[in-house]
Amino acid sequence: MTRPELRLSRGTFRANIAAVRDRIAPSALMLVLKDDAYGHGSRWAVETAMQAGVEWFGSYDIRTALNVRRIAGGDVRIFAWATSSDDEIDEALARDIDLGVGTIAYLRRIIARAAALGAPARVHLKIDTGLHRNGVLPEDWADAVAEARDAERLGHLELVGIWSHIAEASDAEDDEAQAVFLDAVRVAGESGTTPAFVHLTASAASWWRPELRGTVSRIGAFCYGIRSADGPELDGIRPVASLSALVEDIVDGDAVISIGSFDGLPSTLAGMPVGTPAGSRALRAIGQTTSVVEAWPGMAVGDEVILFGAGDSGEVSATTLAERIDTVGEEILTRLSPRVRRVVLA
Ligand SMILES: *Cc1c(COP(=O)(O)O)cnc(C)c1O
Repeated sequence: MTRPELRLSRGTFRANIAAVRDRIAPSALMLVLKDDAYGHGSRWAVETAMQAGVEWFGSYDIRTALNVRRIAGGDVRIFAWATSSDDEIDEALARDIDLGVGTIAYLRRIIARAAALGAPARVHLKIDTGLHRNGVLPEDWADAVAEARDAERLGHLELVGIWSHIAEASDAEDDEAQAVFLDAVRVAGESGTTPAFVHLTASAASWWRPELRGTVSRIGAFCYGIRSADGPELDGIRPVASLSALVEDIVDGDAVISIGSFDGLPSTLAGMPVGTPAGSRALRAIGQTTSVVEAWPGMAVGDEVILFGAGDSGEVSATTLAERIDTVGEEILTRLSPRVRRVVLA
């Protein structure tokens, strides 16, 4: 059996990054890399984004941040926001990783490690603006800022950023979140210099809600060409990845292709259109290691079927598949198994 291929278009990734940067300017792009760059592969994503001039990377956990540092070298800024162990904090400080901090307990641990190591930590303090996913509560904010400022005076910390995360589900809720956020920025500013990096928005709000953007925008999905589920197509943004499998056999007049649910294809996608040399055909059934595609004229073993991609062969995007099963495009990409080979195209 030939292995399925996830083909990554460097040109499309660069074009998406350019479109996002144009759209959000003067806010700076922080390319978010969690889940191995949304299934595209961190090394490839970092190298390509650096060629495109990206200067900020967002990594979620410190382990990934350290990997990005190894790939990218010393010139880029890397932001890791998952609460981490003291050992990881030490490594992050040694490798110049900016740390997102959403609790006073974590803030204190970072200050203690920075004091022990004699290296100031670059901290982005997170305010909870209503999502309740980590973040200092508004009633504790002034205390957190005061502790950060005390540590700053002792040379253990630089308060370089204020940030939060919003639901991007309704404009009204996002507006309320922004009001809480701006108040937190004001309180921090009144206690010293206003931190240079203020960031609230991810893909959808950065794109559609310019008034919510800060000096930095943390963006993953749109850079990889993954539009929002139930959201519109986006000018200048195309899927970076396409998933292909070859025809292995012809059974009862239909094509059997070498990809199945064990490769990460949700079996609930049966019935969806896929791309073939003759255009769109139905994906009739999804087995564990093979699937069945409706016939086309001239169909032969070795022909290529595109499960999702930019539409060049009649296939739909990962997000369109995801909508069918009530999830998001990211999930279709990040669940692909290691048997799917990543292949980089120009
Ligand atoms: C995943 C994530 C992002 C990026 O979200 P996209 O919608 O993929 O752009 C930004 N910020 C945080 C905190 C995240 O977890």
